[in-house]
Amino acid sequence: MKINDRKAQRKLLAVFAHPDDETFICGGALAKYAAEGVDITLVSATRGEMGRRMGNPPYLNRESMGAARESELREACLRLGIRQLHFLDIRDKTVEFINEEKLTERIAGFIRELEPDVVLTFHEKLGGHPDHNAIGKATTAAFRRTGSKGALYFISFGATMARPERFGYSRKDVVRVDVSAYLQAKLAAFRAHRCQTEIDEWVWLPDREALSRFGKHEYFLLGGGKPSSGDSLF
Ligand SMILES: [Zn+2]
Repeated sequence: MKINDRKAQRKLLAVFAHPDDETFICGGALAKYAAEGVDITLVSATRGEMGRRMGNPPYLNRESMGAARESELREACLRLGIRQLHFLDIRDKTVEFINEEKLTERIAGFIRELEPDVVLTFHEKLGGHPDHNAIGKATTAAFRRTGSKGALYFISFGATMARPERFGYSRKDVVRVDVSAYLQAKLAAFRAHRCQTEIDEWVWLPDREALSRFGKHEYFLLGGGKPSSGDSLF
């Protein structure tokens, strides 16, 4: 019983920029850890209201998009098993212009309150989008500032970190999580982000075909704290 109790208390804090980052980049791992009893909190800096995809055919506009994407994210959280969702209410595409000290302190507040075992965010240079890099930089600073006893990991796109040498890292900096048993939940979360995925025909193919598009692994780069076993974030 004790082991189960301890497991139930494991906590993961994910700090990302937009609705869909959690699903498109690491939805399999989030579904897996949620299913294993990890308590997951997601912080989304924005509501993604400046996204270029407006539905297919388009049915959203700049005014309606934020609310639509918030509700899509809430559904995706249900699909993945994420229990807590918070927004920082930052305007989409402006995270890099927000006062860095204030942003860092807000995120530090979440870390102090939750005391997560694992913090997930973007690498501040490899995020692939200015909002991603900015939220990653502030979260990394917050992780260090709080002296968190947990581990910090950077999420990465697809299998880019299958060869970390290309980015100046080695294999021991990388955790490769087998998500093959959680791809159905990941697909359901993709479909929850309807206005973003409607244009991607493969998402709406019969399940078996759609599922075959996903990789069996998701990769994470160690950013701080104690390294894990290489195949698990915990
Ligand atoms: Zn994003």
